[in-house]
Amino acid sequence: MALLIQNGTVVTADSTLAADVLVDGGVIREVRALDSVARIDPVGHEVVDARGLLVLPGGVDAHTHLDMPFGGTYSSDDFETGTRAAAIGGTTTIVDFAIQSRGMKMRTALDTWWGKAEGKACIDYGLHMIITDLGASGLEDMDSMVGEGVASFKLFMAYPGVLMVDDATIFRALRQTAKNGALVCMHAENGSVIDVLVQEALAEGKRAPVYHALTRPTVAEAEAVQRAIAMAEMAGALVYIVHLSSEDALNQVREARDRGLPAFAETCPQYLLLSLEDQMPGKSFEEAKYVFTPPLRKKANQQKLWDGLKHDHLQVVSTDHCPFCFADQKALGRDDFSKIPNGGPGIENRMQLIYHHGVNAGRLSLNRFVEITATAPARIFGMYPKKGTIAAGSEADLVLWDPEAEHTISAATHHMRVDYSMFEGFRVRGNARRVYSRGELIVDGGEFVGRVGRGKYLRRDARGR
Ligand SMILES: [Zn+2]
Repeated sequence: MALLIQNGTVVTADSTLAADVLVDGGVIREVRALDSVARIDPVGHEVVDARGLLVLPGGVDAHTHLDMPFGGTYSSDDFETGTRAAAIGGTTTIVDFAIQSRGMKMRTALDTWWGKAEGKACIDYGLHMIITDLGASGLEDMDSMVGEGVASFKLFMAYPGVLMVDDATIFRALRQTAKNGALVCMHAENGSVIDVLVQEALAEGKRAPVYHALTRPTVAEAEAVQRAIAMAEMAGALVYIVHLSSEDALNQVREARDRGLPAFAETCPQYLLLSLEDQMPGKSFEEAKYVFTPPLRKKANQQKLWDGLKHDHLQVVSTDHCPFCFADQKALGRDDFSKIPNGGPGIENRMQLIYHHGVNAGRLSLNRFVEITATAPARIFGMYPKKGTIAAGSEADLVLWDPEAEHTISAATHHMRVDYSMFEGFRVRGNARRVYSRGELIVDGGEFVGRVGRGKYLRRDARGR
């Protein structure tokens, strides 16, 4: 039976329209304004009344790490628990990261990550490939990955000896994407400089979590962003900066875009809403909950990032969801901040936080909210218009959003498999009431009602922009 969502306010990146939405076979068939001469005939359809609700495209979170190895442990959400939590928060698509270890074929890494997701994913997912080694056949490997729908690659300028690659590798990868149409994502921090600062701090007996942040200055981020963009310019390639955290780094992206370069960047809720002053006063090991990379910054950066989102210097908000439990995983670094697993949980709360602190607070229009949480990531990562919008022919990933629903974020009630929330006690107004993925109801009133393992791998298009 077809599904007819009546009387809602349909919001896309460029319009807000009181309309009915007809869904059949998992696809949106028609969006018809309520003030049309004739309404869509409801006879024979399952009718859902969305009066008073916003009908949004399902969220697209382009940066998550489920079941990811790091520092001798794994992120605590797997593809089942992580995607279920995402769905409950109104996100219907994620792009996670497969990791090519040194000397490994990318194909092997892809198979490994398909194995992690298979039978578990509750929503549709794509995969980026993290490159640690271009070796003898790496460039051809990149082309074959594009053929498998892996339309983006990530390289690290940080974590020497683990994930960091040199500039030659980055430049060669960028050149290859200029040919094959894929997109390079950069973790932009000067890892070599940071490593010196970390070793110095440890030698001076500075071992508390706050030193993770204090040994990663914003200039180390800005320098790497500038270098990444310069290499992309020389390669004639696009570049996407992941988890941009500071004004210094933002300035580099803005200058590049002002010069007409195809540089893109995302930020994350933690950089918009949390700060060194509020979360990391340097008083206790509890602050390990906020050890992720790049680290929290001084509060003054927050408004700059919001402004960047508003003016399209930043295009996307993703979460960099990479949870580790405080009790037994973060604790690995109790005596040494450099051993604290890097990452924090957020996949469930992105839409709520950005809606409340963006739209309700008057920092973002409703349309811009949809654009940065769904449309732009779908476009940039080669999934548009299948994902990221509400239009005839698009897949029916839809959120019935209650703009008046009040919710208090807490580890006691969240669905992520982690024992704390970075946003504990945050009160938000606006939440997902119902969530559909390809026309199937998967969340109803805050509960997951879909089938575990129903999520499909997304073959993404290179040059999807
Ligand atoms: Zn990440």
